[in-house]
Amino acid sequence: MGRLSGKVAIITGAARGMGASHARLFVEQGARVVLTDLNVAGGEALAKELGDNAMFVAHDVTKPESWETVVAKAVAAYGTIDILVNNAGILGPMAPTAELDNDGYDLVCAVNQHSVFYGMKAVLPVMVKAARGSIVNISSIAGMAANYGFPSLAYVASKFAVRGMTKATAMEYGKHNIRVNSVHPGFIQTPMMVEATDEVGGEALAQIPLGRIAQPIEVSNVVLFLASDESSYVTGAEHLVDAGMLAH
Ligand code: NAP
Repeated sequence: MGRLSGKVAIITGAARGMGASHARLFVEQGARVVLTDLNVAGGEALAKELGDNAMFVAHDVTKPESWETVVAKAVAAYGTIDILVNNAGILGPMAPTAELDNDGYDLVCAVNQHSVFYGMKAVLPVMVKAARGSIVNISSIAGMAANYGFPSLAYVASKFAVRGMTKATAMEYGKHNIRVNSVHPGFIQTPMMVEATDEVGGEALAQIPLGRIAQPIEVSNVVLFLASDESSYVTGAEHLVDAGMLAH
């Protein structure tokens, strides 16, 4: 029996990178998964590859009405929603604060931060009705400390906010048997990271105690634990997956 047998999950930003890795692992562990993304071709191709227990829904996480469509399609297809992984995110423009343009700031906050609110707001009524649920919000080491290597007040602000929103919602919804946790990856080899640095982590490598960047599955394994009933007493907490980067 899989570790997510019988569960229904929504994973955003699932067409590539870590979201795709989470989707593969969740299906492997018995979940039925709704993959969502702006990238329709990539998302549809992955859902097809994953088979009958996966479906793709085109989704812009910055639009509340787009969330309504995702939730309605998930419930129509699979009957309920047990798990939400708010994974979609962007790095956005890298610039010191005085040079960061307003549109770039707004976009990063919309994709990384406001989406997490819209997503939790959209699935919580379904989870409350079912009296169970696990929400995993993907933040970053940049949600714990500002010195992660790239200048961007917007990215740092959005990822700190995800950590705070996670705790606030965990406190409000514990009585409904709904758990909410944040995950804080370090340097993970995905298209986002490779575009920002290189295949091995660029200058960041010297700051990583384990001496290497991670493969996406190494984050997926932590997300799986938090999504599953194995973490039944874990909520409102932040979970670093950073090879010790913030241990100093
Ligand atoms: P990625 O490879 O860039 O994948 C992110 C996916 O999200 C892409 O498919 C992207 O679609 C999609 N997306 C972007 N904006 C969207 C929107 N408005 N609505 C729906 N989907 C959208 O990124 P990743 O590295 O896997 O990152 C996943 C999460 O982990 C992000 O929240 C990121 O901030 C966080 N994180 C990553 C690292 C790292 O080292 N990689 C470290 C810490 C935290 P398009 O390609 O069409 O834009």
